[in-house]
Amino acid sequence: MIEKFVRKEVIKAKCYPEEMLPCTLKMDANENEWGLPLDIRALIAKDMTDYPFHRYPDSDSTMLRERLSAYTGVPAENLMVGNGSDELIHYVVSTFVGATDRVVIPAPAFSMYSFFVNLAGGVVIDVKPDESFRIDAEKVVEAAAAENANVVFICNPNNPTGSVLSLKEIKMVIEKSQAIVLVDEAYYEFYGQTVIDWIDRYPNLIVIRTLSKAVALAGLRIGFLAAGGCIMKYLSRVKVPYNVNSFSQYAACRVLENRESLDGWIDTFKMVRDDFINSLRHIEGVTVFPSQGNFVLLKMKHAQIVWDRLMEKGILTRKFGGGLLEDCIRVTVCPPQQNQTFAAELKKCIGEAYP
Ligand code: PMP
Repeated sequence: MIEKFVRKEVIKAKCYPEEMLPCTLKMDANENEWGLPLDIRALIAKDMTDYPFHRYPDSDSTMLRERLSAYTGVPAENLMVGNGSDELIHYVVSTFVGATDRVVIPAPAFSMYSFFVNLAGGVVIDVKPDESFRIDAEKVVEAAAAENANVVFICNPNNPTGSVLSLKEIKMVIEKSQAIVLVDEAYYEFYGQTVIDWIDRYPNLIVIRTLSKAVALAGLRIGFLAAGGCIMKYLSRVKVPYNVNSFSQYAACRVLENRESLDGWIDTFKMVRDDFINSLRHIEGVTVFPSQGNFVLLKMKHAQIVWDRLMEKGILTRKFGGGLLEDCIRVTVCPPQQNQTFAAELKKCIGEAYP
């Protein structure tokens, strides 16, 4: 009885596979395992007794946009804050994608892009990578032209592969695509290259970032988007009022005002990532893909069995359904000791999975 009222796109949709599996090492969600520095936590806690919990939040996240403006160099009026960048991806799709509209997504990609496009009734056009998961920017442009696409997604660095397009390649996609180009820079800080300052040059460019990764605030759900005035005008029409809660806005402001430690930490992080990747390269039977993010994609025979064995040891990683990512596992780069435990256990699990 209920089914006949449900939109066909919702009948076809699947829930995002995010169950909270119990584990001792959580290496599945690209969170920042170093966590928020203690002095910043103390600063946030200090103001809690007087906090106006009974008030609605500032719907425009005004203070936070100012802090984000100082962080990015983008004027506050060109920034929008979302309840996680997932919400902003939803806004972009709601604004630019209607039934049967084409959206080009280089595969394999962050699954929320196709999730929202499919929900809107749009059509996802996958662009396949080469064997090492490199995306061919020319192919992206060709697909956008051939399909008369409304939107092109570029995830840079790309989740889950860790690969990147150069700034030159992204420029070419923006200039030649005749479409809205959304560059998702969720992992920007781990890479260091951005196109966010191009928004005044390219009216078709949208850049999305998040405080969930390097800034260690995944629990607060703060994402932000940068775009030129015309795109901002239309995005504000689909934005839900009071979308970002006041505590998250408040705490994110304090974190951004005190972010010197983050800048120093990124260099340490990059060394830890390089060491981790090197240690994984020494494990026989594992292909390790280079990564500019805070995660590493691994390919091995019988990845499902290996994933199960790791899970039995309390190590949670990300597995994938199949297709291009068949036999792949993605693991988050964590502090050194955790990475070493992972590498040692992976080696054992691989030995057990196919001795
Ligand atoms: N984009 C990419 C590429 C991601 O990997 C993620 C989270 N895994 C997001 C966006 C969403 O981040 P959030 O909603 O936490 O801001």
